[in-house]
Amino acid sequence: MRIERVAIIGVGFMGGSFCLALKNVYPSMRTFGIDINEQAIEIGKELKVIDQGSTDISELKDFNPQLVVLASPVRTFIEIAQSLRELIDKECIVTDLGSVKGHLVYELENILGPRFVGGHPIAGTEKSGVQYSRNDLFKGKRFIITPTTFTDKDAKSLLKSLWEEIGSFVEEMDPHLHDYIFGAVSHLPHAVAFALIDALIRLSDGVDLFKYPGAGFKDFTRIAASDPIMWRDIFLENKENVVKCIDAYINSLSKLKILIQDGLEKELTLYLEEARENRNKIDRNNG
Ligand code: NAD
Repeated sequence: MRIERVAIIGVGFMGGSFCLALKNVYPSMRTFGIDINEQAIEIGKELKVIDQGSTDISELKDFNPQLVVLASPVRTFIEIAQSLRELIDKECIVTDLGSVKGHLVYELENILGPRFVGGHPIAGTEKSGVQYSRNDLFKGKRFIITPTTFTDKDAKSLLKSLWEEIGSFVEEMDPHLHDYIFGAVSHLPHAVAFALIDALIRLSDGVDLFKYPGAGFKDFTRIAASDPIMWRDIFLENKENVVKCIDAYINSLSKLKILIQDGLEKELTLYLEEARENRNKIDRNNG
């Protein structure tokens, strides 16, 4: 099957970037955007990210998409899937760009059937909104595909080829393993960045600490500028893993606090050396 009509639900940064990436490879592809925000649709059309758009999802029926991509915050997916069921052809493939998979993948395939294939592009920034869309966002980046034993094999391989054509490396992963891994390497760092800013708000008693941002502070907190609704949804949908990771982080922070408080020079040096050694491995192992 050659995909010629793609619908994006959520005309934002990720959905918009996916449309531009597809249009780069297949200039004749038609895109239809659905968003609750009329302005997102207008900007999407102006920037030629989408060819058509509407705030009314039922308009997808006439468009008859061959691929539908859920690109809104993850807590909206179930309700959208319920509406979609009545609107799409049984051959239509549905996928998503959501940052949480786990139970959501199983619930979505229950509603949509075996032609739902979960996915998560490991690319992005703290920016949100269709105006930041880029056609090269996914080039050279990982795309995690999370099929289950129920997933249609043709739908999976078609989706895999699409992502490879736009330049991503596709990796298959169990949906729950995905949430454990990304709970630790993505959701925890975002939680910590938001919490660090919160701590500085509380510490700014009579002095404006935010007037003196050093380079380290800016690096570390860049991701706290991410969209609050998107992150609220991610934290709540991956609650179990995120809470476990926050507990592990509190333990590590408490250990560091004691080493500093008790002046344990040797142990403190070892703690920092071990952290530095492991941080450097990331660059060595990932080029
Ligand atoms: P965004 O804020 O730029 O875009 C989301 C869009 O969805 C907005 O235009 C919003 O109006 C729309 N929307 C909200 N509720 C809706 C609904 N019920 N129906 C239709 N549209 C709705 O956000 P984004 O960064 O593009 O993130 C989109 C998805 O991609 C999220 O699920 C997120 O978890 C995932 N993701 C984001 C990143 C990233 O770095 N931003 C990376 C990987 C995955």
